[in-house]
Amino acid sequence: MEDYQLTPLIPAKDLHKHVDAVAARINLDYADKNLLLIGILKGSFVFLADLMRLLTVPVEIDFVRLASYGTKSETSGKIQITKDIELPVQGRHVLIVEDIVDTGTTIAWYMERLRTYQPASVRVCTLIDKYERRSVEVPLDYVCVRIEKGFVVGYGLDFSEKHRHLPGIYEVQFNQ
Ligand code: 5GP
Repeated sequence: MEDYQLTPLIPAKDLHKHVDAVAARINLDYADKNLLLIGILKGSFVFLADLMRLLTVPVEIDFVRLASYGTKSETSGKIQITKDIELPVQGRHVLIVEDIVDTGTTIAWYMERLRTYQPASVRVCTLIDKYERRSVEVPLDYVCVRIEKGFVVGYGLDFSEKHRHLPGIYEVQFNQ
């Protein structure tokens, strides 16, 4: 038997409404621009796939994969790129697409790195802003859902590589 259970948190139909609303804002904000979306693997791929199909502005897509040392529930701050982007960034309007921002360490580190490539602009779009443990202030320009705390899975997010396929978001509840 599993030593945890999943409790439904955000149904798929609610998620889609939030993604629609964020896409509409992006379409307005980038109306006269070419956009480069950079998805952070693996967790963002479902969100990115839904989001990009709602965009009406010209868009290109790339992916980066970051490995962070530390436990599953806390990032240590030592981050490494295990798969880098392939498209040039200089002079581009970049929108980083993240699954969930927790302490903010990962996204802050990657924004710093991207800035060294001299993009025209860098903004962040996250599916979930999990704000209780934020220790690095990062501007989250587009947020679909805000939650205070908890460990969540589904819609691309995993727990030990499981549950990414679930259409909604679930909270992991560990048995005592
Ligand atoms: P941060 O650097 O903001 O503390 O952590 C961000 C990364 O930690 C996310 O990209 C994600 O990989 C992982 N993470 C943080 N909270 C959760 C969560 O509730 N569920 C899952 N599946 N991953 C999380």
